[in-house]
Amino acid sequence: MITMHIGFDDTDSPRMGCTTYIAALLVEKLCKLDVSFIDYPNLIRLNPNVPWKTRGNGALCLRIQCDEDLIEEIMEMVVDEVEKNSDLDYDGTDPGAVFLFHNQIPDELKVFAKQAIQGIVKKEKAVKLIKTFKAEAVGFKKGRGIIGGLAAIGETLEGDHTYEVIAYRTLQNRGTPRRIQASSVVEMDEKTSPYTFNNFDHEKKRVLITPRGPDPILYGIRGEKAEAVKLAHDTVRSEEDIERWVIFRTNHGTDAHLRKISTIQEIQPFNPVIVQGIVNTKPHIIPRRHVIFSIKDESGQVDCAAYEPTGALRKAVVKLLVGDHVEVYGGVRPASPKHPITINLEKMRVLKLAPKIVFHNPKCPQCGRRMKSMGERKGFRCKKCGFRSRNLEKIRMEDKRFLKEQLYITSPRSQRHLTKPFLRYGKEKTGAPERMIKNWHFP
Ligand code: ZN
Repeated sequence: MITMHIGFDDTDSPRMGCTTYIAALLVEKLCKLDVSFIDYPNLIRLNPNVPWKTRGNGALCLRIQCDEDLIEEIMEMVVDEVEKNSDLDYDGTDPGAVFLFHNQIPDELKVFAKQAIQGIVKKEKAVKLIKTFKAEAVGFKKGRGIIGGLAAIGETLEGDHTYEVIAYRTLQNRGTPRRIQASSVVEMDEKTSPYTFNNFDHEKKRVLITPRGPDPILYGIRGEKAEAVKLAHDTVRSEEDIERWVIFRTNHGTDAHLRKISTIQEIQPFNPVIVQGIVNTKPHIIPRRHVIFSIKDESGQVDCAAYEPTGALRKAVVKLLVGDHVEVYGGVRPASPKHPITINLEKMRVLKLAPKIVFHNPKCPQCGRRMKSMGERKGFRCKKCGFRSRNLEKIRMEDKRFLKEQLYITSPRSQRHLTKPFLRYGKEKTGAPERMIKNWHFP
């Protein structure tokens, strides 16, 4: 028996397809051969901040064991399905598939995967690693998909991870509004939360498990365990036929893309960060109701932007004051002629609130009424009893802050695939699962 890791990426376009769908098709085909899966299909979200990303920037890896005689057939099957199901006519869709025949994933590939999730990697680097480890790679067009394919192989999800069951639509329904019973989603959420997350937006009364595009996904349900997402899948009632479904093991909801840096000067465009600083300009609202403020440390300063139009994070951001100590989380947009380098906030932790100091006019020493100022350095006058004084001064007071020293996250409806939601805090996992559940895919 031989161990085979099959990675592929960059098959979809904004108008069609989904790389996870190819994985679903391959799972079923491989199961008809004498093949055993050593893990759930891995769905690895790469850096959402890369400028050329496909819609979700998700790469796939299938890990199997099989007889050596089957290798050729399997490789052909994979290349065939990738070719058949990719949007090859679309400019910017450059599929690739990688095959690695190792029992253990080499450390260099794990490092490569981390770089692809947190930063930018070059194709040359992937090609070099493919040679070093005697992997096989097939690229279509520019073949950029081999970067993601190799990264998906290298991300073994031994640290924190989650699961997602994805159900697919039949061909004739694709492109039409998705029809699932909203009440069954609420029911599912009540039954499986907090072991599933981001199912339903209770604020806007909106189902979150269905995407909106022309892709073949009917819905995706995310959770902590394969059992939980399977139960959720069995609870949701669809009003259209489900063509097939699969449970994936993923880095969704783990913050895997964010890298903590210690000074603002280390910020690089397109490399999502976690960084601390002191607020040094008051938040201001720019057109389309985005909020901008800046933070600084001894190494420099950087703009931060909250783009979410109505959510909890933006509501917190507008209450910031100069002097607040915060930790910000988000992707980094490069400078342009119109704006400096900017962190697009996904989260913010308020570490220490600065006191909000206000100055009030003094109270009248004779009658106790708050006095009126007669102008700068001209003293105060009491309107009630007529008392005047040049010696009284404004009184320094601390006002209440309506912001807490806590973590603020964008609302679930605005969260990225990789954003760790509140529900997941304290549920971080270490170690891959020891065994797989029996029914993790269709039929
Ligand atoms: Zn008075």
